[in-house]
Amino acid sequence: MSSPKQFSILLVDDDEVDRMTVKRAFRKVRFPVQLTEASNGEEALAIIQTKTKPLIDNLSTKHSNVGLDSTTFDLALLDYRLPDIDGLSLIARIKALNFNVPLIVLTGQGDEEIAVEIMKAGAADYLSKAKIEPSILVKAIDSAIRIHQAEEAVKLANKRLRASNELLFLKNQELEKQQAHIKTQNIKLQESYKLKSEFLATMSHELRTPMNAIMGFSQLLLRQYPDPLSSQQENLIQRILNNSKNLLDMINEMLDFSKIEAGKLDYNPQPFNLNYLIATTVEELKSLAIQKEINLTAEINLTEHFIIQDSNLLKRSLINLISNGIKFTDKGTVKLQAWELDANQIAIAIEDTGIGIATEDLSKIFQAFRQVDQSFTRQHSGTGLGLAITDSLVKIMGGTISVESRLNHGSIFTIQIPRRKDVRLQNSSV
Ligand code: ADP
Repeated sequence: MSSPKQFSILLVDDDEVDRMTVKRAFRKVRFPVQLTEASNGEEALAIIQTKTKPLIDNLSTKHSNVGLDSTTFDLALLDYRLPDIDGLSLIARIKALNFNVPLIVLTGQGDEEIAVEIMKAGAADYLSKAKIEPSILVKAIDSAIRIHQAEEAVKLANKRLRASNELLFLKNQELEKQQAHIKTQNIKLQESYKLKSEFLATMSHELRTPMNAIMGFSQLLLRQYPDPLSSQQENLIQRILNNSKNLLDMINEMLDFSKIEAGKLDYNPQPFNLNYLIATTVEELKSLAIQKEINLTAEINLTEHFIIQDSNLLKRSLINLISNGIKFTDKGTVKLQAWELDANQIAIAIEDTGIGIATEDLSKIFQAFRQVDQSFTRQHSGTGLGLAITDSLVKIMGGTISVESRLNHGSIFTIQIPRRKDVRLQNSSV
């Protein structure tokens, strides 16, 4: 067990007999004390000044508080009546030195009435010399030291709290600055986003007219009327027509995308025959599949053929998914299947036996302008907008799209749409 702490006490009293009484009291109760004695106020002040060292308050160097090292004494016992100075003035001078230890004032006969003043001046307690009992003295010392320690702990905690509050305040200010910065950046971004969308919309729109003219004239020439074309001419014009068609598809994709971004794509639900829509769409894309010698099939298992949806949006979604299936498949099949999940949910899956998509790429492919192969030497043309558009269209229809794929084996894109979108959701944003 460790030895009990020895208390260091400064005893200030001009009367040697009284000092003896105090010492005897300590001895009697075996109070572990190391006493320093002073017989008048000046001596006491000199001891306080010489025995204590300057203390730099390192918590806040800004207001470096040069005081006295309070660890030298645990407590001071002061006689109220000293020959050179009265008790109140002594307390005031001790306090002025920042001597931060509890003070107990020993009062004589008839001094009791100034007890209030003593306490006001900053003493921790007072004891009448006439009634000094060892146990009372020790108890008073013990509780004064304890209270002082508790007060010091509170002060320290408060100081730390203030320091962390200050830090928090600064951090908050910094955060507010960053927030303001992000806000302005956001506004700028929104502006340039809007400009970009407007630019895309205008450009795509402006490009469509000449593209349609080019295609129209190419088709006219291919009729070979009234004059026939040489086979080289025919081949070249066919290439112009094919390339124009590809370009027009891309322009249309960009136009769709900018419309979706601007929230300007209308949702027009009408009753229509889903069976018929699927069959005609697949038929329209048959020539693409035939060119690549791919087997394009449709398997429709619907008990009720009519649905109330935006047929235009659904058709565009199917065209995107089927043409992707054909584009990314070199041999094998692209198979469409449609079935009812329940009374109000339709599923349409487009399965291909193509190049497939690596698992790590699956999350990216629905993002605009994202392609698994982003290189300039990529084999397949495209804007990287098709799936982003399809995803948005399906959402507008109140549905979802999902994909399963295995690299080099093929992919299945499945859309689920309600047979009839909840009327309340019709005008909600995408
Ligand atoms: P694009 O076809 O114009 O490149 P999409 O948005 O339609 O853009 O598709 C994004 C990417 O997702 C494609 O570039 C391709 O890497 C991948 N992808 C889409 N569909 C398929 C598919 N059926 N098989 C394999 N990869 C596909």
